[in-house]
Amino acid sequence: MNTVLSLKGISKRYGRIQALNNVSFDVPPGCVFGILGPNGSGKTTLLGIILDILKPTAGSFELMGQPPSADVRKGIGTLLETPNFFHYLSGERNLRINASIKGKGYGDIDAVLEKVNLHQRKKSKFSTYSLGMKQRLAIAAALLGNPDVLIFDEPTNGLDPVGIAEIRELIKKLASEGKTIIMASHLLDEVEKVCTHVAILKKGELLAAGHVDEVLVNEDIVEVSASDLNRLEQLLKNMNGFSGIQRHDNNVQLFYPMGTAKLDEVNQYCFNNGVVLNHLQLKKKSLESKFFELTGKVSDR
Ligand code: ATP
Repeated sequence: MNTVLSLKGISKRYGRIQALNNVSFDVPPGCVFGILGPNGSGKTTLLGIILDILKPTAGSFELMGQPPSADVRKGIGTLLETPNFFHYLSGERNLRINASIKGKGYGDIDAVLEKVNLHQRKKSKFSTYSLGMKQRLAIAAALLGNPDVLIFDEPTNGLDPVGIAEIRELIKKLASEGKTIIMASHLLDEVEKVCTHVAILKKGELLAAGHVDEVLVNEDIVEVSASDLNRLEQLLKNMNGFSGIQRHDNNVQLFYPMGTAKLDEVNQYCFNNGVVLNHLQLKKKSLESKFFELTGKVSDR
């Protein structure tokens, strides 16, 4: 199996609304794959299609290298919204009901409660749980039957900082055990902290997909300045190696693919051509500015 999920030109229309437009990307096994985008970008619609809750208007996809089927989906645990647990029943009792509904045995209930750190409180009523505990119980339910793939829609939504940290740690732990996790998020910060791979959606369009390091941090910026900025700019335009150049009020910025900028070469080139630099600085393009550039939206950091 080379991919857990392979999307090929998925589109979805709701009447006049184009929720997804020709979206294609692959999810490799063993990764934490973030589907990142602002509200309304199509994340939930995409997860709904993968899980057969919605039909695509066009396109196709494969799960575990096979055409999607109920059988293949049995290997996927899901958390789409906080499930309707019974408030007056214990966490453990709720999981037993959940397991029955899904046609799974009760054999791993203790193990999943342990995994999400709720074992001590398994006899307590659901109504006494904090929001974070409720969400961890929902993840426990997704883990029933020990699926290899987990799909979570905004798993930290509505939680306080402690609850958010607990869920993020849990996701990392599950990933370290070899599970593939696909999660929708509107938080750049979350994807940066938790995910290895990302697909960025904006108004149903796929803007970029791949390894987080490649998609979100892909540029070095060399900022240079000299007393005669016009001359410096002209000179730099004749230099090789960079992928873009931008003139600002007080400096000129050169853009390089990540890890390829060489400050000493820039300095030497300018000096050899009669321009002495009074400023030379390497800046990494921040994730935030990259996300803003991609989606036109400041992230909710
Ligand atoms: P959010 O984080 O707010 O849930 P999202 O990225 O998950 O956003 P979707 O919920 O997939 O985005 O919505 C994508 C677009 O499709 C939005 O414009 C939304 O209003 C629209 N949409 C979603 N579901 C329906 C529906 N059942 N009928 C009509 N339009 C819909």
